[in-house]
Amino acid sequence: MFLRVFLFLFFQLLAAALVCAMESGPQRLLNAALAALVGANLWLVLDGIRGMRLLTWLRSGDTSDIPLGSGFWGEVFDRVRKLVRQRDRAASESDIRLQDFLSALQASPSGVVLLDHDGRIEWFNQTAGNHFGLDASRDMLQHLGNLVRDPSFAAYYAAHDFRQAVVMPGRASSSTIPIKLSVHMHPYGEGRSLLLSRDITALEQAEAMRRDFVANVSHEIRTPLTVLAGFVETLQSLPLNEEERSRYLELMAQQGQRMQTLVSDLLTLSRLEGSPPPPAQEWLSVKTLMAQCQQDARELSSLLWGGSQSLHFAMDAAMDIAGSASELHSAFSNLIANAIRYSPPDKSIAVRWSRLPDGSALFSVKDQGHGIAPEHIPRLTERFYRVDRSRSRETGGTGLGLAIVKHVAQRHGAELVIESTPGKGSCFSIRFPAVRIRLPLVISLVIGA
Ligand code: ADP
Repeated sequence: MFLRVFLFLFFQLLAAALVCAMESGPQRLLNAALAALVGANLWLVLDGIRGMRLLTWLRSGDTSDIPLGSGFWGEVFDRVRKLVRQRDRAASESDIRLQDFLSALQASPSGVVLLDHDGRIEWFNQTAGNHFGLDASRDMLQHLGNLVRDPSFAAYYAAHDFRQAVVMPGRASSSTIPIKLSVHMHPYGEGRSLLLSRDITALEQAEAMRRDFVANVSHEIRTPLTVLAGFVETLQSLPLNEEERSRYLELMAQQGQRMQTLVSDLLTLSRLEGSPPPPAQEWLSVKTLMAQCQQDARELSSLLWGGSQSLHFAMDAAMDIAGSASELHSAFSNLIANAIRYSPPDKSIAVRWSRLPDGSALFSVKDQGHGIAPEHIPRLTERFYRVDRSRSRETGGTGLGLAIVKHVAQRHGAELVIESTPGKGSCFSIRFPAVRIRLPLVISLVIGA
């Protein structure tokens, strides 16, 4: 400031001194005073020019091209520059924080829509875009109520009662692939709202499956129970002769057996779902497994058809398989039992274990039975799904056999393949990966030697 006052006076004195030095006579002092005034104005003009440079720069808004200066204006430039830089830094830091925050919302598995006090869309993440069919380039600042037209959502939005979520179909929902959304509005700030959407299709399906399962189990148990209760009442109330009594008792035993099989299959399924996968290092002899299955098959076939079916068991080579003996036995005997139960008495059934060129192995059961229409095949492994309900019941089926086979196959890294031609027969096979198959140790040693 001192320099500024000094320069101001210096300009005036310099102009007055120059005039005094150049002139003589009575006008000299007056001219010197005029020169001092001109000097003062010149200083003011120069000062104004520097002030204008600052103003022009501030107006331009271009903070990168900061004019340099010295003295008073230099300090003003310097301080303004520092303030501008601080503001820029704070702005870019809060921009980064905002971007981080929006990226977190973008990564959210839930749909997020931010609405202003008028219900206009300020921002939404990609998940919400997919849920509601919103397009960022088209729908920003549009009223949400105009874009999401589902009646249940419209009623929820209009009622302004946001204590609960509302369930509505997703934008891409169709009759073949239904999508269910749970949508919840959360008011915040001054009239703003946060809309959260969640895809609950899988949850709903699981809940529907649970309900179906409970209903199916209850139905399956209630039927033999009702029959049993009926027979008990008959035995208690009617005077029966010995022959009738023993016939009724036999029928009761059959119903008891049916319930026992059902409970045992249910327990097997729940064990398969709840236990860790079978070890990949425990080797079993396929020959032993096949021998057990062959014996079970002969017993069942003679029980059902008096042994008139011809059963053929064959193995390409002796092999070991890594897995659980009880699970594999259950899967193999389920497939063989189905072939026996769903084939007429005079037909033949071929059970085969073969090694494939890539080292994997195939267990297959081929029958000449009634076969299965193509539309049923994808659903056969669903619990309690039956093509022919009465035939299944007559032959002691629970509707859980193929669900067990599928689980066992999956737990051994294997795949269940079903091929069938109605009227001609079916072939059920399980393909085991090479990692679970090996030649028995003795044979390997002989080959290696
Ligand atoms: P179930 O105890 O009723 O046999 P599964 O789960 O083992 O139950 O089989 C489901 C349905 O698949 C059966 O009810 C039957 O309709 C059909 N099915 C299974 N295996 C055969 C087969 N070899 N031939 C014809 N139909 C079969």
